[in-house]
Amino acid sequence: MAFGWIDEQALLRRRAGLVRTLRPRPADSPLLDLASNDYLGLARHPEVTEGAARAARTWGGGSTGSRLVTGTTELHSQLELELAEYCGFEAALVFSSGYAANLAAVTALAPHGSLIVSDAGNHASLIDGCRLARGTTQVVGHADPEAVRKALQTHEGPAVVVSDTVFSVDGDAAPLAGLAEACREHGAGLLVDDAHGLGVLGDGGRGAPHAAGLAGADDVVVTVTLSKSLGSQGGAVLGPARVIDHLVNAARTFIFDTGLAPAAAGAALAALHLLRREPARAARAREVAAELHARLTAAGHEAVRPDAAVVSVRAPSPEQAVRWAADCRTAGLAVGCFRPPSVPDGISRLRLTARADLSEAQIERAVCVIGETRP
Ligand code: PMP
Repeated sequence: MAFGWIDEQALLRRRAGLVRTLRPRPADSPLLDLASNDYLGLARHPEVTEGAARAARTWGGGSTGSRLVTGTTELHSQLELELAEYCGFEAALVFSSGYAANLAAVTALAPHGSLIVSDAGNHASLIDGCRLARGTTQVVGHADPEAVRKALQTHEGPAVVVSDTVFSVDGDAAPLAGLAEACREHGAGLLVDDAHGLGVLGDGGRGAPHAAGLAGADDVVVTVTLSKSLGSQGGAVLGPARVIDHLVNAARTFIFDTGLAPAAAGAALAALHLLRREPARAARAREVAAELHARLTAAGHEAVRPDAAVVSVRAPSPEQAVRWAADCRTAGLAVGCFRPPSVPDGISRLRLTARADLSEAQIERAVCVIGETRP
């Protein structure tokens, strides 16, 4: 039977307790949300939703074409200009998702004969970029500049080191200064994915590269998503103008993809303006994360010290992680549940996001529910 192998895979998945299902979220969910990536609580901010609505009214429901044909509106250009300026880079290029931005950056910066040195904990979109690229990938140990140095030592020709700035599973930060140093010793480029850093790390949420003093460097390229702190949808690559020009000419997920929807660009731009006006939101997200972590560890949970706004709590097994998250939900709390194959080390976790707009009472309630439902 056609696709018969799918049923076999489904059976194995069921037996291993790893079946995933979609759960549509109602518009007025009563759940306390510690599961989304809306780190600054901006997705429903009236200025952000109005930014989206105004953009849709002005430019239409879609961008109508690929960026090089009709899909670049003045709004896209403005967003690119302001994103680059805010984060301290020469230029930016907006994509329809962070995933597409990562595929573009890795493939365009790793030509035939080049070496890609990739952190073992990198996000799936960076991994897929490595798979699509013409260069050869060497995966190195997690957050290990010395391993990067070793990998670069034996290679002749172009090389790029690829890493998340904040790893999405445990919320730990990459050693950016050490990675940049290793790159510079060997003339390699550094490409970092700041999906979880933008809006949370650095002065006013300018991101992890800005905090590490790497913004604007001619050997550093950054990808971001507009879908987390900025409460919108889409992605971007930030870097030297010559790199951005190269992407416009060479990146397939830029050239062959329809441009970002105007509403998403408008929402992201409004969120960026809010962040500029209210920079304390970034520090508040970090504060909430530190507080969540402190309270959870004090209550005896095994939680990773957060470097940004993600707090990861260990669960004994995939089944118990699923049940724990489900029990939290029944008690009114939405938390993320990470388990194989989404986690490279096979350890299941609850993943909590520390939103800047959580009140003390909400933090308290979240910690209580997690404790009461512990397997
Ligand atoms: N990079 C990282 C580290 C992410 O966590 C995500 C989103 N889960 C992405 C890239 C992809 O971004 P987007 O959702 O905008 O496609």
